[in-house]
Order: sequence, then structure tokens, then C-alpha cells
Amino acid sequence: MAYIILNKNNFFNNLDIIANRTKSVDKIALVLKDNAYGHGLLEMATMASEYGITKAVVQTSAEADAIESFFDSILVLADTPKSANQKASYTINGLKSIEKFAKGTKVELKVDTGMHRNGVNISELEEAFANIKRAGLLLAGVFTHHRSADELTSEWFWQKETFKTVKQKARELACEFGFENLRFHSCNSAALFRDNDFDEDMARVGIAAYGCLELPRAFGAEDFKPVLSLFASKNSSRLLKAGARVGYGGDGTLVQDSIVSNYDFGYGDGFLRICTKNGYKTPKGVDLVGRISMDNSSFLGTQEELLIFDDARVAAKYAQTISYEVLTSLKSHLERTIV
Ligand SMILES: *Cc1c(COP(=O)(O)O)cnc(C)c1O
Repeated sequence: MAYIILNKNNFFNNLDIIANRTKSVDKIALVLKDNAYGHGLLEMATMASEYGITKAVVQTSAEADAIESFFDSILVLADTPKSANQKASYTINGLKSIEKFAKGTKVELKVDTGMHRNGVNISELEEAFANIKRAGLLLAGVFTHHRSADELTSEWFWQKETFKTVKQKARELACEFGFENLRFHSCNSAALFRDNDFDEDMARVGIAAYGCLELPRAFGAEDFKPVLSLFASKNSSRLLKAGARVGYGGDGTLVQDSIVSNYDFGYGDGFLRICTKNGYKTPKGVDLVGRISMDNSSFLGTQEELLIFDDARVAAKYAQTISYEVLTSLKSHLERTIV
């Protein structure tokens, strides 16, 4: 079987760097959606709680229910619960979704400040507050999401300014409608590291915690260390002659007599098949031979345990994608071990 090793020291190193930015561990809301970016929901929740993280962000109600014992507060980004979890707040992604929640449900209002994917328009804020009040929901926060925080353009600045206006208006409306202690948040990982004067109630941090944030050096984000490594075990080895062709289609042609070993992993475990196209090499320089197949992939050499990748950003380059996709593609059946 292919298997995953999670490095706790690296995770805690990343959380130290993040806590330095947010100025408090309590302001870190760890994003654990999509099986904690492929790392394993319960594994990451366990370590985060050991570190002292009290807040989490997930996509679904089921994820929130699974990790409720680890956190004080859990934001659900896009789901309506059958029965609300007492520790969760549920996102209102548009005016129409207000009526879907049962009376007494704790909710947070998402505002569209420029991404145009989800959230109410600024011009709809008052209507949203009024409808939330009328529906008997408990409004706990107001937030937005940046569309380009990881790009060196001015876009991040105007979205930040727009959210400032939202906050001001929301504070007034909160008084008018009797909602107390609203929390405000807008930063994902990239936004947090572009901001020198972070002063919000929390930051929703995903990729930085997993050690795969990619930002220009100037932002002090270079000390993050990837948490996840993917390994596979050898099935068998064989000595093959120069010119032998390995795997489906005989795509991997040997240039000299070589020992080729087959490992028990492939796209069935979530390793992207497209990596074949670009001459995949492991971090230790071991060459892939032929195509990645469902549960079998062949490499030069004889190693028993093969490190496939230890930095999803590097693997992502082979697949011409982003580390997020490499990580979230890893299947939940892989065994995950914390070291
Ligand atoms: C996924 C997500 C995040 C985390 O983004 P990173 O870039 O991984 O830090 C934050 N906020 C929302 C709304 C998200 O969907």
C-alpha cells in the first residue's frame, strides 16, 4: 500500500509562524475541509487541538460533527444541517439561503466583496440582517473571501478596503437588530501573509498550516515546512535489457540494462496520472519508468520503501497544477501515520 507520513514538528513550526502573524493562537481558525487537504481530518484535528487551536473551518455538517470534540468553534462553509451542532456556525451564502436554516441556528453571513462566487452583495446587507432576525437565526459573524491574495496586484487592497466598509455597516446593523459580539474575518493564508497589521477576529488558514503556501519571498512565508509525505512499498523488481519497454503502451523505454521495481500505488490512490507526462522524479532523484497506472507504478532502482513526494508544490509542477489539487486528490483509504 501507498501510505502517508505526517510530520508533527513541521505542522507545529507552521502554526508558530501563523500565530506570530495573528498575534494569538486563538485567532487561528484551521481550515480542515476536504479531509484536511488530504492530510486526514481526524489526524490533523488531533494535532491541532494538542497545539492549542480552538477554531476550525470545514465544508460540511458531517465534517463538523466528526471533529466537534476537538474544537470550541467550527465554521461550516456550505451546508444546512439536519440538526445543528452546538459548536458550529453555518454560512449564509446568499439571501435565499436564510430560509433554509431552522430557528435558533447559529449562522455567519458571507459578503461578496469582489470574488463573485458566494455571499450577499453589500447593497443587500440590511435586508440580510433583517431576514436573519425575522427567521430567528443567531448571527455570530460576518466574513468575506479574497480572490487574488496570492497575486502581486492591487486587487487584494481594494477587497480589503471594501470589507472595511462592510464591517462598519455591519456594526451599525448589529446594534440596530440586536446582534452582539459579531466576529469579522477575511484572511486566507495568502491574505494573512500580505497583511502587516492583521487586526481581525480570526484568520481562516489552510495551505500555510500544511506548509505549502507559495508567495514571493518578501512576505516572510519561506519558513513553512510541508507536513505530508507520500510513500509506497515495493511489489517486485526485475532486471531488464536496454530497449525494454515498461508498463501500459510500453511507454517507458530503458536506455540501458536496468533494474526496475514496481510499487503499489497509482492514480487509484490519488497520485495524479498527468505527472507521467513530465518525466516524474522523486525528491531523491529516482525516475518513474512508463505510465502511472491505477495501483502500480514502476521506478528505476530497488528501494523497498519509496518516497514519492515530500513537497506537494514540487509534485504540482509536474502535474501543471497547484499543491491544493495534489493534496486533496489523495484518497482517504491511505494509512496516515503521525511522526
Ligand atoms: C479554503 C478556504 C480558506 C483557506 O484557504 P487557504 O488558501 O488554504 O489558506 C479560507 N476561507 C475560505 C472561505 C475557504 O474556502
